[in-house]
Amino acid sequence: MPTYNFSAGPAVMPQPVVAQIQAELPSFHDSQMSIMEISHRSALFDQVINEAEQDLRDLMQIPDNYRVLFFQGGGTLQFTAAPLNLATKHHHIGLLDSGHWASRAADEAQRVNTTVDILGSGAANHFTALPYPEQPVDQQLDYVHLTTNNTIEGTMYTKLPETGRVPLVADMSSNFLGQPYNVRDFGMIFAGAQKNLGPAGLTIVIVRDDLLGHATNLPSMLDYQLFADKRSMFNTPPVFAIYAAGLVLKWLKAQGGLKAIANRNQQKAGLLYDFLDQSKLFTNPVKPADRSTMNVPFVTGDAAVDQAVIAGATEHGLLNLKGHRLVGGMRASLYNAMPQAGVQALVDYLENFEQHNKGVH
Ligand SMILES: *Cc1c(COP(=O)(O)O)cnc(C)c1O
Repeated sequence: MPTYNFSAGPAVMPQPVVAQIQAELPSFHDSQMSIMEISHRSALFDQVINEAEQDLRDLMQIPDNYRVLFFQGGGTLQFTAAPLNLATKHHHIGLLDSGHWASRAADEAQRVNTTVDILGSGAANHFTALPYPEQPVDQQLDYVHLTTNNTIEGTMYTKLPETGRVPLVADMSSNFLGQPYNVRDFGMIFAGAQKNLGPAGLTIVIVRDDLLGHATNLPSMLDYQLFADKRSMFNTPPVFAIYAAGLVLKWLKAQGGLKAIANRNQQKAGLLYDFLDQSKLFTNPVKPADRSTMNVPFVTGDAAVDQAVIAGATEHGLLNLKGHRLVGGMRASLYNAMPQAGVQALVDYLENFEQHNKGVH
């Protein structure tokens, strides 16, 4: 029986990439050492990190005036690093309150003495629709923080908010490389790798040149300018995670790039949403236009039935469907590496469950 991993993160990686890691683990490029054992200052690793950056630049069409930085500390550290590096003029940012990760970002910005204006909030509709600025954005703000994909709530921005001259800073942790965005629409993009790119331990930061160099006396490990100057090797970078992410980037290129993967992601998500929308047992609460292609939460409305759904799914090889502890129910994460066959298997299982549990609602 094939198994499919619907975890929200760390999450499924492309099977050929895992196989390649396994095959070349004992001796990386005939070095008789594994990738975990070579120096980050070696020519071997230089090639790994340079190719990873170039492949990322190719895939996202990153303009030359943007730097690509390889950080540790997860998406969460960027909630601190972004205000420290970019909110230097007025220590004042705007934020769209689209759910859990957006409010975590607001908390962390406030901890480093940044004032956070909530420009719009989805709280009133329980985050089932995306907030946009309720008024024209104050042009004195240092930037506006946006969570492009809300991993827990299952919403995703395809239409970006208007912010005028104020740069958008995007937390793309859970839909990074899931569809094309125009990098020029952002002052900065960041993403923890373990959702849609590779193993945990790596965070990508893409930042426009002119936003760098305005902060003084930052801790070195939080300093974008320093990381840019040192090409992300101020200290030891997460060598293995960069290597694995690099393989995923090559796999993505071989899939046809971001337009091709976005089409597939739409089809995969469409399969599941179409099923949920006609189901009499399962529902997804999100406004159709705002639905995520990456994370699909759904419920039966009865916690005991939800539990039975999850237990049965596990027996059928459909793993990690338990919803986030904050919202309960189920959540299927359909990242790039989830094959269509996995989504079909999930829909078949849910259909079958519903048929055999007609009496429950
Ligand atoms: C998972 C996630 C984070 C936090 O990531 P860590 O790498 O665990 O710090 C932040 N933002 C979004 C949108 C996420 O999905």
